[in-house]
Amino acid sequence: MSTPTPANTPAAAAAAAQEAAKPSNFLRQIIENDLEKGTYANRRWAGSPGDAAHHAAGQPDPAKIRTRFPPEPNGYLHVGHAKSICLNFGLARDYGGVCHLRFDDTNPEKEDQEYVNSIIDAVKWLGFDWAQPGNDQPYQASDYFDFMYRAAEYLIEAGHAYVDEQTAEQMRVNRGDFGKPGVDSPYRSRTPAENLARFREMRDGRHEDGSMVLRAKIDMASPNINMRDPAIYRIRRATHHHTGDKWCIYPMYTFAHPIEDALEQITHSICTLEFEDQRPFYDWLMERLIEGGLLAAPAPRQYEFARLNLTYVITSKRKLAQLVYDHKVSGWDDPRMPTIVGLRRRGYTPAALQMFAERIGVTKSDSWIDYGTLEGCLREDLEAKAHRGMAVINPVKLVLTNWDEVMGAGHLEPCSLPALPHPPEGTESPVRHFTIGKEVWIEREDFEEVPPKGYKRLFPGNKVRLKGGYVIECTGCTKDADGNITEVLATVVPDTKSGTPGADSVKVKAAITWVGVADGVSAEVRMYDRLFLDAQPDAGGKDFIESLNPNSLKVVTAIVEPSLANAKPDDKFQFERHGYFVADRVDHAAGKPVFNLAVGLKDSWGK
Ligand code: ATP
Ligand code: MG
Repeated sequence: MSTPTPANTPAAAAAAAQEAAKPSNFLRQIIENDLEKGTYANRRWAGSPGDAAHHAAGQPDPAKIRTRFPPEPNGYLHVGHAKSICLNFGLARDYGGVCHLRFDDTNPEKEDQEYVNSIIDAVKWLGFDWAQPGNDQPYQASDYFDFMYRAAEYLIEAGHAYVDEQTAEQMRVNRGDFGKPGVDSPYRSRTPAENLARFREMRDGRHEDGSMVLRAKIDMASPNINMRDPAIYRIRRATHHHTGDKWCIYPMYTFAHPIEDALEQITHSICTLEFEDQRPFYDWLMERLIEGGLLAAPAPRQYEFARLNLTYVITSKRKLAQLVYDHKVSGWDDPRMPTIVGLRRRGYTPAALQMFAERIGVTKSDSWIDYGTLEGCLREDLEAKAHRGMAVINPVKLVLTNWDEVMGAGHLEPCSLPALPHPPEGTESPVRHFTIGKEVWIEREDFEEVPPKGYKRLFPGNKVRLKGGYVIECTGCTKDADGNITEVLATVVPDTKSGTPGADSVKVKAAITWVGVADGVSAEVRMYDRLFLDAQPDAGGKDFIESLNPNSLKVVTAIVEPSLANAKPDDKFQFERHGYFVADRVDHAAGKPVFNLAVGLKDSWGK
């Protein structure tokens, strides 16, 4: 008999089947086509980013493709970024490539180390890694400022760039519009020597912020406005979180981004659709710098896909920041936030987010994904993994009036149930232990004095099973002076304990969840609902604050069975019949359990 190797275990077979079933998409087709044609087969890689000479001295690139995830460290990542991370790292993994994590930190003003750290955590938590042998640091665009400056000087010397001293307003007017070609700047015909001198003065801090810019010299009549001599360097006296005060000029994003890709030998530069109009400039710049011998050929190519729009959710760092700073939520990691830290605290798993990214796929046209799709992925992931437990969310006491007589005064009877109804093949479920005594907590809605038609739970004269415990027969209830039910009364039917030979001697139509008064533990349970009532809270420039759901959080005190009270932060459970819950990673502690509703058992939104 052979020992199972990873390739022939059932789990590996299932993974392989799922792999084979992975739906193709236009990006996969492009990559497969490039691999077949050998588009990038002769690239070299020097082990670190660099210019043409640097890579020429390196080895043939062991990575078949290179992709990148290039966040700007100006906020916390959200579910849209998760899609991009899964896409870029997933393609690299599937095609024998490497995906770079790169901080696009060319804008000195809004960036912060706090965000850098949170992005690193988010990518790792999602299950991806950028580390390569001998190189485990993420890349940062600001490391390329020297090269970018050199590329700018090269463009000037080759007659492809000039320093423009028009005011911003003049430049805007002279750019023209869709129907009107632009007008050449009076500075456009300066000689390379004049431009170079001016640009060096800009670098040396001899001119004021905003007084002049370096522009690429392309075509002021181009039908694509982005090709009408775009600005590529500006003067901005600002302290950069990484390079400090070394620079007072900074490259524009459209100039910096293609260079970052090329220095890192990226093959497929995947971005969202709003950059489609920038692609001609991307290609123009790559051609110029390759012909100048500065960058290695072949150039990276940009491909655009539709960004994720999710109903009832906002995916804009700026707007999410507003929710945080206006205290509409408790922070970036509020469990109602679509940030990765928020989703994590809500109980989302990396597997659920990866499944979601895979399921929604990539397209070239914008659409809205139903929030239920995201919830469905979490439910699917937790169904098999989350331990079951009983929790009473809206408790009322049930008294078994004959308990002392038939079971013995003060008796506590030990009970148990499996934690997993369907444990993985070849394994046995862990067991939860709890006790039943004279008094137990049940859900208020499980008792009706006058049962509605078809009601199968507790009402006078009806029998039900206390799940994992005994069959009981309801005898009535007690009330306070205002008529509110204070206790439900029942008798226990002896010899009907679950798992004993007599268990089935009495037939019942329902089993209800419960927790013993003796060993139940009070827990804070945070019942979350969607943050917005409007399916497209910020579409068409709407004020999303107006559609905030006033009931997106209800805090209740529930009673949970002992196995739940022993949870560790981040542990996930199915509270039987209620949904999936997670022990809050911030506030949950021994002796003070706190659970968050992650997702209900069924898709009930709007029903
Ligand atoms: P935001 O508008 O929220 O600030 P951004 O696009 O400015 O987002 P970046 O940090 O620049 O944020 O984005 C990093 C990467 O994530 C980019 O490649 C971008 O295309 C991708 N990305 C951002 N938002 C989404 C989204 N909603 N769906 C898919 N990809 C996204
Ligand atoms: Mg951005």
